[in-house]
Amino acid sequence: MKAAVPMIACLRPFQGSAVPNEPATALVVTLHGVGNASTALNDAGAARYRVATELFAHLVETCAAAPVCRAAAFSEQRSGAWLVLTFDDGLLSDFDVVAPMLAEAGLCGTFFVTTSNVGRPGYATWDHLRQMADAGMEIASHGIRHEYLVTKPRRDAMREMRDSKLQIEHQLGLRVRAFAPVGGHHQVWMSRYARQVGYVAFATMVPGLSVADARWVELRRNHVQAHHTAYDIDRLVARDRRLLWRNRIRYELLRLPKVALGMPRYDRVKRAILRLADGAGRPARTSSPG
Ligand SMILES: [Zn+2]
Repeated sequence: MKAAVPMIACLRPFQGSAVPNEPATALVVTLHGVGNASTALNDAGAARYRVATELFAHLVETCAAAPVCRAAAFSEQRSGAWLVLTFDDGLLSDFDVVAPMLAEAGLCGTFFVTTSNVGRPGYATWDHLRQMADAGMEIASHGIRHEYLVTKPRRDAMREMRDSKLQIEHQLGLRVRAFAPVGGHHQVWMSRYARQVGYVAFATMVPGLSVADARWVELRRNHVQAHHTAYDIDRLVARDRRLLWRNRIRYELLRLPKVALGMPRYDRVKRAILRLADGAGRPARTSSPG
């Protein structure tokens, strides 16, 4: 997509009948790149997670009639069942493929960008991000470097959260209100600190439904990956309880070795297992995105 992304109006209003006294909930869907256009040179996991354009088109079609809002805007909702579409890493396919398809369907998305990767081969440029923001997309922070915050000294992790926000705001002239730590790996203090420095949404990779709470939300996100099917997406968007619970149990089971081994060792073991799985011709499956 070389022309400007067409402008859309988003937030799409919630049309359903809200349940009295029930808080706003959101099903948040997360993708890492779409199609074959992007090559994330310093994120070896990106190709594994990348979703085919046809599958993404199915997701867009499925969401077309849903009440959709951006991540930060969801924090302000007091009722309704919402859908939030998020995209991590600031890949070039966000500009070339994702944003145009969303805009054409009248949808919006939230794009978590790693500032040091902006403009590198395979990633969107500041001009791309500016066009996407002008078109109604939310540009949010994924830190300065694409590194786990949980492995850094607290002072460095704080700088990643605070300075990436300032960099995007300086470059694009807009407020950045949502933050996603790399891999979703976080500690309790991080979401508190995010709130202190002006974020209103903190995006984890814990699967399930998100609940807005007084202009603040800790997002639970549901990862769509290359091996998923149109049927999987239909179940997800329909908030199939069995699917959400299964994903949550799987997440918790995978969390145990992460805690036991520590993230660097866990990643090495995971890569070795995935290489074995790929070599055996089975589809690679993982719920630990970058
Ligand atoms: Zn990432």
